[in-house]
Amino acid sequence: MRTDVVVLGAGIVGTSVALQLAKRGLAVALVDKRDPGEETSFGNAGMIEGETLFPHAFPNDLMKLARIAAWRAPDANYHLTYLPRVASWLLAYRSWSTPERLLETAKLTRPMFAQAVPEHEMLMEESGATQLLHKTGWLRLYRSQRSFDETACERQTAESYGVRFRVLDANGALALEPALSPVFRHAVMWDDTVSVTNPLALTQAYARRFTELGGHVVKGDALSLRYCGIQGCRVRTSKGILEAGHAVIALGPWTNDLLRSYGLRLPLAAKRGYHRHYKARGNATLSRPVLDADIGYVLAPMEQGIRLTTGAEFADRDAPPTPVQIDRVLPSARELFPLGEGIEPTPWMGSRPCLPDSRPVIGQTPNHPWLWIASGHAHWGLTLGPATGRLIAEMMTGATPFCDPKPYHADRFRRGV
Ligand SMILES: Cc1cc2nc3c(=O)[nH]c(=O)nc-3n(C[C@H](O)[C@H](O)[C@H](O)COP(=O)(O)OP(=O)(O)OC[C@H]3O[C@@H](n4cnc5c(N)ncnc54)[C@H](O)[C@@H]3O)c2cc1C
Repeated sequence: MRTDVVVLGAGIVGTSVALQLAKRGLAVALVDKRDPGEETSFGNAGMIEGETLFPHAFPNDLMKLARIAAWRAPDANYHLTYLPRVASWLLAYRSWSTPERLLETAKLTRPMFAQAVPEHEMLMEESGATQLLHKTGWLRLYRSQRSFDETACERQTAESYGVRFRVLDANGALALEPALSPVFRHAVMWDDTVSVTNPLALTQAYARRFTELGGHVVKGDALSLRYCGIQGCRVRTSKGILEAGHAVIALGPWTNDLLRSYGLRLPLAAKRGYHRHYKARGNATLSRPVLDADIGYVLAPMEQGIRLTTGAEFADRDAPPTPVQIDRVLPSARELFPLGEGIEPTPWMGSRPCLPDSRPVIGQTPNHPWLWIASGHAHWGLTLGPATGRLIAEMMTGATPFCDPKPYHADRFRRGV
C-alpha cells in the first residue's frame, strides 16, 4: 500500500491529524500498535479547555515544595529514582514559570487554544459525536482566600483576551452544582470550556470518520519506520509494508523512542496521572468537571461514573503504577461530593507527554523534510488535537496556517532536536 502520509500513533492527536489530512483530500494511513484512543487519550478528564491561558507552573512556594519533597502533597508525586533524569527538565520548566514567561506563553498559545473548541465542534458534528459534548463549562473551586488570590493574574489576563469567566461565591457555585458541599470560599466558572463524557468514544468516532473518508487504520510498530530516499518512508504493518511520502510522529509519550533513530530528541518528561471512577451516593449528580484547586484533583462526570483524576507524578513512563495520589485526595473529594464506592478495582494510569515550555511540537523536523512531529501536548492533548491536526494539514498542503506555527517548531530546543 502507498499513501501520501502515514500518521504514527492513534491517540487523540494522531487521529485528529489523520482526519484533518483526509478531509483535505490526502491519502492517509493511521498506524498504531493498539486500537485508536486506548493509551493516554483514554483516561483524561474530558475537558476541551479553550480558556487556557497559563500552563501549570512550577511551584514558587517553599512550603509547597517542601511538602512535595516529603511526598505529602496531594497534587504532585515523584519517584526518587527518576529525579536525576528529570532534574534539568525541571530547571527548564521552572524557568518557564516566572510571571513574565507565563504571560508570554499565554500570548504565544492563545490563537491555538481559541481554535480548540470550534475545531472539535466541527469534527464532532461530521463524526456524529455531538452527544458526547457538554457545553456546561468548568468550575474551579478555591478553599482558601490565598489560592483564589494567587490566580488573580490569570483572570486579569483572561479579561484582556476576552476569555469569559464568572467569579462566584459558594452559594453561586452551589446553585450550579447542588450536590457539592460548601467546603470552599470562592469559585470561578469558565464558560468557554466544554467537556466530553467519554474521551475514548470521541477518538473512536474521529477514527470512524477518517475511514469513511477513505483513510486506513492499520496495526503496526512505528519503530519499524525507515527513510527510503525521495520516495519518502516505509513502515511495517499487519497489512504488509506501507509506503508514504511523509510521516507524522504522534506517539505522545513514546515520541523519543522513534526520534532517537533519526538522531533527534525532544526534552520530553512524563507527568503521569491516574483516574478512578466512583458511583455517586443517593441522587447526587455533577453537571460539569470541577477542580478542587487547593487539593489538586478534578471530578468529571463520565459515562462510566464520576471520574476522579489526579495531578502530576514525575516517574519513568514505564515504571509500575504508584497511585498514592488517589488515596491522598480521596478524603477531600468525598468531603466535596458524595462519592460512593470505586467502580474499578485499580486506578488507570497515563503519561502526559510534557515539554518544559508547556507548548507542543507541531511541524516538520529540522533536516528531515519528510518527517513531521505532533507531540508534547502535556495537559492539553484532548483540547488541542483537532487544532494541531488542522495546523499540520495546512502546512503540509501549502495552505495559509490559521495561526503562526513558529511557537511550536522543534528547533526551539537548541540542545535537543
Ligand atoms: C489524568 C489525566 C487527565 C487529563 N485531562 C485532560 C483534559 O481534561 N483535557 C486535555 O486536553 N488533556 C488532558 N490530559 C492530557 C491528554 O490526555 C494527553 O495530552 C493526550 O491524551 C495525549 O494524546 P496523544 O495522542 O499525544 O498520546 P496517546 O494518546 O498516548 O497516543 C499515542 C499513541 O502512540 C501509540 N504507540 C506508542 N508506541 C508505538 C509504537 N511503537 N508503534 C505504534 N504505536 C505506538 C500508542 O499505542 C498510543 O495510541 C490528561 C491526561 C491525564 C493523564
